[in-house]
Amino acid sequence: MPQPLWLRIEGARQNNLKNISLALPHDRVTVITGVSGSGKSSLAFDTLFAEGQWRYIESLSTYARMFLERVDRPDVDRIEQIRPSIAIEQKNPVRTARSTVGTATEIYDYLRLLFAKIGRVHCPQCGAEGGSDTAETVVDTLLREHPAQRALLAFPLAVPPGARTGGAGTTEFLASLLQRGFARVKVGGRVLDLSPPPDVDLSEAREILVVLDRVILAPEQRGRLSDSMEMAFREGGGRVEVEVLGGEPRVFAQQFRCPKCNLTLARPQPLLFSFNHPLGACPDCKGFGNILRYDEARLVPDPSKSLADGAVEPWSHPSGRWYQKELLKAAKRRGLDVSRPYADLTDADKQWLREGERHFSGIRGFFEEVETYRYKLHVRVFLSRYRSQFPCPRCSGARLKAEALAVKVGGLTIAECTALTVEELARFLRGLGLRAWEEAVAREILKQLHAKLGFLLRVGLSYLTLSRQTRTLSGGEAQRINLANQLGSQLVGTLYVLDEPSIGLHARDTARLAELCRELAYAGNTVVVVEHDRTFMDAADYLVELGPGSGERGGEVVFAGSRAEFLKDARSLTARYLTGQESIP
Ligand SMILES: [Zn+2]
Ligand SMILES: [Zn+2]
Repeated sequence: MPQPLWLRIEGARQNNLKNISLALPHDRVTVITGVSGSGKSSLAFDTLFAEGQWRYIESLSTYARMFLERVDRPDVDRIEQIRPSIAIEQKNPVRTARSTVGTATEIYDYLRLLFAKIGRVHCPQCGAEGGSDTAETVVDTLLREHPAQRALLAFPLAVPPGARTGGAGTTEFLASLLQRGFARVKVGGRVLDLSPPPDVDLSEAREILVVLDRVILAPEQRGRLSDSMEMAFREGGGRVEVEVLGGEPRVFAQQFRCPKCNLTLARPQPLLFSFNHPLGACPDCKGFGNILRYDEARLVPDPSKSLADGAVEPWSHPSGRWYQKELLKAAKRRGLDVSRPYADLTDADKQWLREGERHFSGIRGFFEEVETYRYKLHVRVFLSRYRSQFPCPRCSGARLKAEALAVKVGGLTIAECTALTVEELARFLRGLGLRAWEEAVAREILKQLHAKLGFLLRVGLSYLTLSRQTRTLSGGEAQRINLANQLGSQLVGTLYVLDEPSIGLHARDTARLAELCRELAYAGNTVVVVEHDRTFMDAADYLVELGPGSGERGGEVVFAGSRAEFLKDARSLTARYLTGQESIP
């Protein structure tokens, strides 16, 4: 194994660090340990990470720098051989409901691609599965139904108006095809050689068929057949004609159709599955999956109260006094006993109270009026008190349009896929049972999906669903997602600084995480981990202990060296603990 290069720090004085100098190996895992307050974060984050960031930002143009946060340079004499740094902290900075585990890991982007490429579209009218031809399905069909027969492959081409006039226009058009390498065309069912340009009347022809290839339908020709078919679909705008010699020509089209109603169905684009894009988002909830609705439990918090006693909470405030009076008048007209508890009202009366009538605007009318003052902050605060999140009735919380939810892979919609846990989804994708062409088209996408799901499994997040909102994750979970993304990005020459990644993990998962850190380091990165966990220290190549005490009594290097040296070192409290001589107080 080649000897590592070293990152050298001289005279670090950030926070409580006592002018310390030390060197850390690149391409290895270094664990910085020590009692709480001994200066671990001051060294790892406030010195190493900060300097790595500062140098990186300095290397950018003035323009690019305007978009980045200003970073203060740490208090240190010299740092040599530092790499651009990335901090992986125990923090969850995400606040938006638009980010999910799926989008944050890009797994959702690959799922969208998978659904666009091989998703089976279902008819919105009858629910039947739509069908379409692709180069691969056509080749499958031909090889199966016409084995060893000869066939002509042709694509339709529009005849430009200038070529329909006869004479030079027609000759020029046909010569241009010859120039592009085509040897024959089919006009009115007849195959014509293009060399020399034939004398043919195109005045009535909207399109002609250009012969692309003559092939034998044999399995060993599959590669060539697929290539020609791809090209024919491309040149023919999604249509090809195949004439098996001695048979009727067959037309294949890439466009999706319902086999029952013959309705043209849209071939989905990846964006159709994006709940963060108007093309895919459910129009009612705008892709959030929830809608804010007036909540009966908040409007009438105490159903044992009567209408006369102010059961309708917003009307018990001074601003609602006029409405309360209107309510009592309208109830009298209706013959409704306003002294009965709200809970005892009939559904029809409750509906009347909510929706109003000709001379009484009801709770709905009240809010409609108040909402016209939404631009005032206190009005928005007032309104928010009476509304709660409810699953969107149109998409049932799936966030997507009906068209997107009519597309399935392996029998599931994309929303159903994201409701699976990482572990379940990985298993589901392995057992898809794809057709040959689907397999070919999806191979690369599935490879990426398995790699990304694999990273999540390895950082111990097998239990998360992809639809889980990122903002609801714990700091440790967010950190491990970040780590999984870094593993997936395959960067090299980077300094990673991690903050106690073992927090909240079982011993088995900690061991896996430590193993991942080693992988990251040995792939050509510098990994520095602030950690007390024994499993992690066991996995370290190099250890630094700061101390001896905390605050002003800390900030010195108690030990810095390889793990083997560390265990022999009698000064280190942590080493005595690791070798079982002492337990940490
Ligand atoms: Zn249909
Ligand atoms: Zn919705």
